Amino acid sequence: MLTDSFGRVATDLRVSLTDRCNLRCAYCMPPEGLDWLPGPSQLTDDELARLLSIAVTRLGIAEIRFTGGEPLLRRGLPAIVARAAALRPRPEISITTNGIGLARLARPLRAAGLDRLNVSLDTLSRATFATLARRDRLPDVLAGLAAAAAAGLIPVKVNAVLMRGINDHEAPALLRFCLDHGYQLRFIEQMPLDAQHGWRREEMITADEILTALSARFTLIPADPVSRGSAPAETFLVNGGPATVGIIASVTRPFCGACDRVRLTADGQIRNCLFARSENDLRTPLRAGADDDHLGTIWRRAVAAKLPGHGINDPGFLQPARPMSAIGG
Ligand code: SAM
Repeated sequence: MLTDSFGRVATDLRVSLTDRCNLRCAYCMPPEGLDWLPGPSQLTDDELARLLSIAVTRLGIAEIRFTGGEPLLRRGLPAIVARAAALRPRPEISITTNGIGLARLARPLRAAGLDRLNVSLDTLSRATFATLARRDRLPDVLAGLAAAAAAGLIPVKVNAVLMRGINDHEAPALLRFCLDHGYQLRFIEQMPLDAQHGWRREEMITADEILTALSARFTLIPADPVSRGSAPAETFLVNGGPATVGIIASVTRPFCGACDRVRLTADGQIRNCLFARSENDLRTPLRAGADDDHLGTIWRRAVAAKLPGHGINDPGFLQPARPMSAIGG
């Protein structure tokens, strides 16, 4: 098991498959993109499959979420999913994606064993999308969402980040759209994870603001908090249910005490928190011939050292050196 010194157990592994992305969302990276990780530094499919096997068979990982960067840009993704799905005990397998390319990949991913996915969608306006993501790709995302539902990857979850003065007026419209299409919407508070360090607390749209905006148009009743468990979203029944909307208040109402996550970067580093200031290297010992016992021990030690909280609200908080796209959101 992956236990930390505060008694939390990590069972949910977030794997960044690449730091590259085909969008340039303003809350994530600068318009010019980033210095991408060099190819040889990234885990190969075989190296990744070995680490996933250790995680599932020895360390108690029960859920694997592939993310990035944009995970659909990783060549051979269905084969990677299939290798994860062949592990026993069979982990839950999900993907967080911007949806571009999903129209083509939804069925192969489903066939390979993908259980669920989250698609990021921050706006329904093509012009706003082009401004916020700096690419005119909204139609591709909408086609990807539809393809995911048609492939049976349901319920399709949608993640939205609101930015003041750009798309913050769209909360009710996004919820209406998701209700109409049977998608499950979750708003995520903007976190200080952008490569350009542009996050400002006074600028971010808070969970309370989102709730107020939604409550003007919908009746929201908190869903059973007991069922929340380690889920980051506070969930509300919309207009009496059964449809729900979630709000992930990572900044204003952190949920670190229930965190069950650990992260593996595309270049084989363990991060015990999205906001960790340090990483533990698995790639070097892996390539030097370390056995599964040794790699498992490094992984356990990395999780054991997890801090009690992400520290965003502490005086002197420093953003992690690596941006969200490299860490894997
Ligand atoms: N490219 C994929 C996507 O767009 O979903 C996966 C990676 S992306 C980093 C994962 C999620 O993190 C997305 O829903 C994105 O909106 C969210 N995200 C990125 N930067 C963020 C930030 N600074 N604060 C909050 N959420 C962020």
